[in-house]
Amino acid sequence: MSIYDFYQIFGQIVFILGLLLLGLLSTALILGRLQIKEDRLIFPKLLLFTVDVFYGLFKKFSENVGVDAKIVDQIGVEVRNKVNEKVFRKIEPEDKILVLPHCLRHADCQANLDTSGIVCQNCNKCVIGVLKNKGEEMGYQVFIIPGSQFLKKIVEKNKFKAILGVACYQDLNLCMMKVSKYRVQGVPLLRDGCVNTKVDSRAVLEKMGATIPGDSQIKMDSSCSMENNRKKTI
Ligand code: SF4
Repeated sequence: MSIYDFYQIFGQIVFILGLLLLGLLSTALILGRLQIKEDRLIFPKLLLFTVDVFYGLFKKFSENVGVDAKIVDQIGVEVRNKVNEKVFRKIEPEDKILVLPHCLRHADCQANLDTSGIVCQNCNKCVIGVLKNKGEEMGYQVFIIPGSQFLKKIVEKNKFKAILGVACYQDLNLCMMKVSKYRVQGVPLLRDGCVNTKVDSRAVLEKMGATIPGDSQIKMDSSCSMENNRKKTI
């Protein structure tokens, strides 16, 4: 075989692989949007494979076809949630951890930071106190963390079977990918950022398997909302 033939065959293989990749990304984008819209599992393994293996490329592809790249994280979170939700519910709270982001804290929070994260003093100024109290009452281990590097330490140092996390879509998806060997559930923030973020407390309590308190209790903190973030269109 001449070098010319070799390059020709090589070029054809690359071209076919490129077409296959484009087909995969297009299919995953269509199926992912359908899954989010209809809230049902459609080829979950294919979707998770595409999100996990081609994460950066999938985001670029979405942007190039005029879809907000955030949808890739949304697909990852929603598919993993759906895949794990039944088994997650069956696991005892004592075998689960709840991981909350420190950005939900009230601006006047006096809590200190230690090796496992923020040590909430239950001052009831923010939603963290409510979720932490409820979680611990049920048997959850609760962690309030300032960054994903704390999650690594928590996973290494504690024994559990399932994780419920709260974060912005991107962090949530990336963390859910990292801990995918556990039964994982995630609730995305309604408003993300570094401070003054918001979460749908009802969604977190529902995923925890808690009895939902009356509106008056939930509204004690402005970081709560009944809005369903999943329904937000991207
Ligand atoms: S409830 Fe906890 S996290 Fe929230 S402001 Fe008070 S001490 Fe800080």
